[in-house]
Amino acid sequence: MDLGIKGKTAIVCGASKGLGRGCAEALAEAGVDLVINARTESTLIATAEEIAAKYGVKVTPVACDITTPEGQAKVLAACPTPDILVNNAGGPPPGMWSDWDRDDFIAAIDANMLTPITLMKAVLPSMMEKGWGRVINITSMSVKSPIAVLGLSNAARAGLTGYVGGTSRQVAPHGVTINNILPGIHATDRAISLDQGVSAAQGITMEEAAAQRMETIPARRYGTSADFGAMCAFLCSQHAGFIVGQNILLDGGAVNSTM
Ligand code: NAP
Repeated sequence: MDLGIKGKTAIVCGASKGLGRGCAEALAEAGVDLVINARTESTLIATAEEIAAKYGVKVTPVACDITTPEGQAKVLAACPTPDILVNNAGGPPPGMWSDWDRDDFIAAIDANMLTPITLMKAVLPSMMEKGWGRVINITSMSVKSPIAVLGLSNAARAGLTGYVGGTSRQVAPHGVTINNILPGIHATDRAISLDQGVSAAQGITMEEAAAQRMETIPARRYGTSADFGAMCAFLCSQHAGFIVGQNILLDGGAVNSTM
């Protein structure tokens, strides 16, 4: 399917690895020029070179922490008026409800709620002026089905989801859509670290920990970055202009719910 976005420009945050990279690759395959971001410069540059060589698009790496005002300014300076914005960063650490104090919540809210909101506020005006734009926020299945040990993530991402619910309806008349994609477990570094935690806690191997987790997923596998990127690129396509303010679960059926 021709996604109809060849020649457009996108900022993809947290894109040197994992789900962000999956989104960057799928957009590049559709002919979109990219500004990609992550903190570790060496990995980011290698990713930029690989994507540019594979898909023949322009890929500009901007190494910085996107959760800081300096990082946000650096990315926006490289691409002040993108057609597409994909918001992503690492998730907050796990723990117990009693572990976290105000500073922990402020850090999580800064990273996973206020950073995407700041970037949206920066790019929405030019998208609305052009009459076309696409914003994707990578959140989590925990928005629909809270994961007990991820209280910081549950809280911050729920806040972002509420903001998107209202804002997406305000910008939709201008041809701009904002949607969230909610990953269930995907085979990225994040999944490896979750499986390491289970392996250590239960005294089982990594393979056993992964097999145990797969039993809870009707698709009986982890998602891939390519699965995830394909959905992102479709939501950024010309065909998705009527999809507004949605929370799309990509979880292999793990959340047992009709809606
Ligand atoms: P990942 O494989 O660890 O990749 C994260 C990417 O973001 C890397 O490129 C990383 O590079 C970059 N990054 C992290 N923090 C950053 C920051 N502050 N500023 C800029 N770049 C940053 O993680 P993932 O699995 O793709 O997860 C992406 C998001 O989805 C996370 O928020 C995660 O919590 C959420 N999620 C993932 C899953 C899953 O199963 N994978 C499930 C639910 C939710 P650097 O480290 O070099 O910065």
